[in-house]
Parts: sequence; C-alpha cells; structure tokens
Amino acid sequence: MLFAHDTEVSLASTAALINTLPGASKSGDDELSTPAQLVQFLDRNEFTGSRTGATEELDDVRALRGRLRELWTHDEDGVVALVNELLQEAHALPQLVKHDHWDWHLHATESSAPVAHRLQVETAMAVIDVVRAKELDRLHECAADDCTAVVVDLSRNRSKRYCDVGNCGNRMHVAAYRARLRGEKVSERI
Ligand SMILES: [Zn+2]
Ligand SMILES: [Zn+2]
Repeated sequence: MLFAHDTEVSLASTAALINTLPGASKSGDDELSTPAQLVQFLDRNEFTGSRTGATEELDDVRALRGRLRELWTHDEDGVVALVNELLQEAHALPQLVKHDHWDWHLHATESSAPVAHRLQVETAMAVIDVVRAKELDRLHECAADDCTAVVVDLSRNRSKRYCDVGNCGNRMHVAAYRARLRGEKVSERI
C-alpha cells in the first residue's frame, strides 16, 4: 500500500466526486444535479455523518468540485496553498476516530459539520499525505484527449494513465489500432 488506507479511500472518492462534472462523467452530463444524486454519491462512498438534504447542501458540494479538481492540476505550491485554505476555512482539527467498520483514521471536522466542509477537509487531509510523500504526480488528468476526468494512480510502477470512467484506456487503444490499420503513424504510447 502506497498511502494509509483512509488516504487512499479519500483520494478515490474525491476523484469520483470530481468526475461527476460534465465532460468527465460517463454520461457527459453533470451527475451531481439533484439531491438524490448527492445521496447516492455519499452512500456509495460510505460517507457517514449528518446531512440536511437541502438544496444548499447540494449547491455547496457542486461548487466544491471545481476547487478540489485544482488539487489534480496545480503545481506543488498551488496544491499546498489550496490544501491550507481548505483546512482553515473549515476550522479543521485532526482527531483519530474509529467508527462503523473503519479502524483508526483521521477526522478533522465534527460529524455534524456541513457535508461540503467535511468533504473538503477529508480531501485536504489525504492530499497532505501525497504532498509529504512527494507523490503529487500520482494525481493527474486522464490521458485521453477528449476526457476531463481525473485519475488517482496508486499503481506500483505509475502506469495508470487513463480514468476508469469512460473506459478511456480501451477506447484510445482501439483508436490507435484503427489509425495503424489506416497506415497512420501512431506515436502515442498506450
Ligand atoms: Zn470516518
Ligand atoms: Zn478518461
């Protein structure tokens, strides 16, 4: 394992959150448009703690996605500045906790804090590990030129170039194969 378990879980669920943005999602639509979609997302990612189900909650999480996406695209200084901003804004106070089936892991907000605050702090805490380990290059955009999804590469040899959302690896592979059949020179490494 590259990072602590809770860090890897957080990175994956943040990537899934960012990949609900139109252009990254499987459908091409914004997949976080309704309160029901937010509930689905939170349940799927086993996100505990209080929820209001209010429109404001949805709006806050929707707005957060673009900011969190910057953690995947900024350089190290930019990521550090954003991580600190996200933590400060939500008055993060790290505590070790154990609940449900999760062993000791970090929470840095009360379980009653707004969903968006908890999401931003959880993500920031995870990215702290990535920055400290000098592994930021593992957070990158999908290598398919028509895809804006983000990728968390936890592979041993840093070989994950494509997202899991749009089957991009396969798609690019087929496109390169067809291009070769047409006699075009394909320089891209798949
Ligand atoms: Zn927890
Ligand atoms: Zn992709």
